[in-house]
Amino acid sequence: MSTSSARLSAIQAVTTYKPQPSAFNFHETRPMDIYGCNVFNDKVMRERLPKQVYRSLQKTIRYGETMDPAIADTVAAVMKDWAIEKGATHYTHIFYPLTGQTAEKHDSFFTPDGNGGVIAEFSGSMLIRGEADGSSFPSGGLRSTFEARGYTAWDVTSPAYVQENPNGVFLCIPTMFLSWTGVALDKKTPMIRSGQALNRQASRVLKLFGIETDLPVVAYAGLEQEYFLIDNNFNFARSDLMVTGRTLFGARPAKGQEFSDQYFGVIPQRVLSFMMEVERELYKLAVPVQTRHNEVAPSQYEIAPLFEAANLAVDHNHQIMSTLRNTAKHYGLKCLLHEKPFSCINGSGKHVNYSIGNADLGTLFDPGDTPQSNAKFLVFCCAMIRSVHKYGGLLRATVASASNDHRLGANEAPPAIMSIFLGDQLTSVFEAYRSGHLEHAGQGAKKRVMKIGVDTLPPLPTDPGDRNRTSPVAFVGNRFEFRALGSSQSAADSITALNAMMADSLGFAADWLERETAAGKSFNDAVQSFVCHCIEEHSAVIFNGDGYSDVWHKEAVRRGLPNLRNTPEAIPELVKPEVMELYERLHIMNSAELKAREEIYLEQYCKTIRTEATIAVRMARTVVFPAAVRWQRELAQTAQAMQAIGKDVRTASLDAVTNDLRLLQDQTAKLEETCAKAERVQDSLKQARRYCEEVLPVLGLLRAVADRIECEVPADLWPLPNYQEILFCK
Ligand code: ADP
Ligand code: MG
Repeated sequence: MSTSSARLSAIQAVTTYKPQPSAFNFHETRPMDIYGCNVFNDKVMRERLPKQVYRSLQKTIRYGETMDPAIADTVAAVMKDWAIEKGATHYTHIFYPLTGQTAEKHDSFFTPDGNGGVIAEFSGSMLIRGEADGSSFPSGGLRSTFEARGYTAWDVTSPAYVQENPNGVFLCIPTMFLSWTGVALDKKTPMIRSGQALNRQASRVLKLFGIETDLPVVAYAGLEQEYFLIDNNFNFARSDLMVTGRTLFGARPAKGQEFSDQYFGVIPQRVLSFMMEVERELYKLAVPVQTRHNEVAPSQYEIAPLFEAANLAVDHNHQIMSTLRNTAKHYGLKCLLHEKPFSCINGSGKHVNYSIGNADLGTLFDPGDTPQSNAKFLVFCCAMIRSVHKYGGLLRATVASASNDHRLGANEAPPAIMSIFLGDQLTSVFEAYRSGHLEHAGQGAKKRVMKIGVDTLPPLPTDPGDRNRTSPVAFVGNRFEFRALGSSQSAADSITALNAMMADSLGFAADWLERETAAGKSFNDAVQSFVCHCIEEHSAVIFNGDGYSDVWHKEAVRRGLPNLRNTPEAIPELVKPEVMELYERLHIMNSAELKAREEIYLEQYCKTIRTEATIAVRMARTVVFPAAVRWQRELAQTAQAMQAIGKDVRTASLDAVTNDLRLLQDQTAKLEETCAKAERVQDSLKQARRYCEEVLPVLGLLRAVADRIECEVPADLWPLPNYQEILFCK
């Protein structure tokens, strides 16, 4: 199919789309009947496992105790029978390699029984441990190819489930992915380790407040997922979209998002049908999806589940992303999870709503209504302020990628400077603490002076008031919302960093309180001095103003906050001495594991830009150039014909396209050349810088010429679906 006929088919598909009657509807099948029906959940375990085994497994799941290997065979047998009843023939250990993707290798339950038949086999060791020949996954030098084998280890805290396909069913076991020497080759392992570190330090602080809890203290995450949906024909008609997930060319459409008519607008029928099927599939997997709506940009949408324990929330987010991608095809749609598929309109993010707590305690970022719970809140809140101030660079590094670079720092997503928004009320409470004065706003000179102790704390605001959208980390009532993560990224690295930073700061708080009380201070005074210390040392990271403004960028420099504008600037933060020390001390990752990540992420950055540049060169030569030449020829022939009959000839259009053709050729050659040069650089950081500083700008220049040509060439000669069509045919 030529691109121009694909373009017509796309438009036809959109205009002739008829909703398919669903084989399933929530009228006949109640949501509660399917919710979690494909999950090996607590109910299934309680019903099917022998009591002893169930109790033992619960200890591991709920309290984080090490699993008793003796029960593995029984659990495996019960899980296998359950899965086979559901129609499963295969099982797979699902894991999350450093590519950021989901990985799976399926194995059959069935083996020949020697008598011409088969038997189903699934032992405890097959459940707990899988072997994955991981030699093709990037390991950043952690594994040499001769010992390429990695193994996967069951993450008992994330339940197994069956995944349906029209032609069969398979059992999925969420796992960690490690080398034989125990080195983390994935994103889940460090996240689980960071959760343990967080639990240790948070429990220490709580104990000082006289709070003992049986359940471990965990991080919670609510991950809001933004995405674009376009007609799949448009996707196939443009190799940039198809291969890189974003448009490398495309003139600004006449109408974009400036009317604000899309946000929370009525959801188009085909899209809503798609959303309903997505939700139905996710219900079956017990992913607690809650909200759906139109986002700011045309053809942009959001799905958000209810928050859960962070580890589970991250797994569920991976399931959400694959369900979105797979289901879109049923509706002739393409789901784009890229952070910036289209220039000139907003990109997509994934907000990480983060809090700490457990079922007994609730969330510890909730101010509460007694002085005691207020004091606890202030300590946890101060720990967050200290964390972002001390380790902002690390947090920034966890959201660095070639695709997210297009979004961060543009006027649509938080800047690359890591700061915290607390809201004016909460900030004034901290200010009052710092100065020891409660300053009544509006009373001018008549400031009332009082000593604020924990006992006399005023009621704290539970709502920060204004929802500041320009801040990367914002306090939103009972949690912090981290808004810098990109839509296609796994939240695991950010959550690992948040947990690690908080473990460090809470450990620091516990040390402080223990030391001060041992020296004879009352507990309340110790809390007060801790809060004062944090505000004195770390209030530079608090910023309640407009994060998009230039004023802030200047102010941030003055405050000494790093502004790591792009991936090559951000990724090296992962191997800064203080980050390596932090992760090693908390047993999250050693320096080799961190260096491997630095290496892999930089390599991914380079490969992404190289692929984009290669596609751009090819499209410029084989799509844009020929279209412009046809137009040029037509104009030249017209000029000649006009001259032949003695008419006045105007050549402005011919001159323009001729000039742009020359520029197009020059920029194409230059892109190829800078790319080849960058490719020859050995060191990965230096190479990433080359791609960033030399290749990307030329890619931009080439695009500018091509986009101008798009506006010169007649519509019937322009072979690519344009922005207007892609974004508004729905
Ligand atoms: P908004 O658009 O205002 O940010 P949404 O409802 O779209 O709100 O998303 C809020 C997300 O925050 C949801 O996933 C929600 O479950 C989650 N959330 C709410 N409370 C907490 C909490 N204490 N900890 C973590 N996440 C939370
Ligand atoms: Mg939000």
